[in-house]
Amino acid sequence: MRTVINNVNIFDGSGSQPYPGSVSVVDERISEISTGNIAAQAGDKTIDGQGMTLMPGMCEAHAHLTWPTSVEKFVPGMYLPPEELALTTARNARILLDHGFTSAYSAGALSKTLEISLNNHIESGGMPGPRLIPSSVEREPPNESELDPGKVEEHVRGPEGMKAFVKDCAELGAKAVKFLISGESALKPGASLELLYSEEELMAAGEQARESNVWLTGHAHAKEAVKIGVKAGFRVLYHCTYADDEAIEMLAEHKDEIFVAPTIGIVQATLDAKPPPHMDMSHMKADAALVLATQKALVPKLRAKGIRLLPGGDYGFPFNPNGRNARDLELWVEHFGYTPAEVLHAATALGGQIMGMGDELGLIKAGYLADLLLVDGDPTKDVRIMQDKNRLAMIMQGGKLYKTPEQKHASSQ
Ligand SMILES: [Zn+2]
Repeated sequence: MRTVINNVNIFDGSGSQPYPGSVSVVDERISEISTGNIAAQAGDKTIDGQGMTLMPGMCEAHAHLTWPTSVEKFVPGMYLPPEELALTTARNARILLDHGFTSAYSAGALSKTLEISLNNHIESGGMPGPRLIPSSVEREPPNESELDPGKVEEHVRGPEGMKAFVKDCAELGAKAVKFLISGESALKPGASLELLYSEEELMAAGEQARESNVWLTGHAHAKEAVKIGVKAGFRVLYHCTYADDEAIEMLAEHKDEIFVAPTIGIVQATLDAKPPPHMDMSHMKADAALVLATQKALVPKLRAKGIRLLPGGDYGFPFNPNGRNARDLELWVEHFGYTPAEVLHAATALGGQIMGMGDELGLIKAGYLADLLLVDGDPTKDVRIMQDKNRLAMIMQGGKLYKTPEQKHASSQ
């Protein structure tokens, strides 16, 4: 069956300005793009885009579907009983899709298998959610922090312990395995500058990841954490806050294999949070201010080297809910000097690449998968409109309409 979407302004994900035209979709892929109207044939479903913007679906590059809090449901902490966690995670997947995120790269889960099961349900068509790179738990050495999500049962250290962990996650079906290479100062003062694993351990993890055909994802604030992450073959490095010139050079040398996501959403949310009187966030806020200032200087340098940078902001904490993910786009314009079209390119075209599907996802291009949003307004003029799900008149994923313009009309009555 063919769907024809006429009378739209096409933002194709490449970063160039929108242009008027029409798009047709056959089965799960884009079949034709025209600068005029596409004539409907018998049996076609036609959609009048009414001059709205048609763009590729977005990708969240630092997703935590198992972090419980969302725009629909506040959870005052990180832990839920297993049944509640499973249902909340499935709900968060639906919430991301409702907000225009047709893809998500997981930055770690609270369970070794939950995202893998969820992804099976999404892929088989039984449950709404983004295309997902399901992750293992976020592994770090044992510690005392209450807020800390990185608790795992096995803590066998040394190269063999790391290999066994990576192999086990891969055998369970994870596509990405997450390590905290350095710590997190927001949770423990000074920890962002501490390495949590040795170079030897991380090199062993890298070796096993290549053998088991799984990707490594790293939490890396410290400059040495970035360097070891690159050496060990990590595919995605988050934060990279204190990268020095040598670390930047190493990232640049591997720019065709590596992705960086600064995760500014959580930083801004920490600065904005108004905690109840019994909760002292002053240390977290001081650290967030430092991270923001450092990343504002760092991101333009990484970008100038051609390193692929993606929005994605650690949403899911109580003060930074799942569903608010598109706020990263506004923050990139405000803090990192991106134009709306540039950050939309990062969220769409680079999103397809981080999903490992750059040759078929993230652009409006003939032959590409039809993950499409119809947006009421022009996000290349004001990217903040992406934060309002009521502005999404249509959400299509793999050629299937998840939200139709008729549904949008009905819900706004
Ligand atoms: Zn995270």
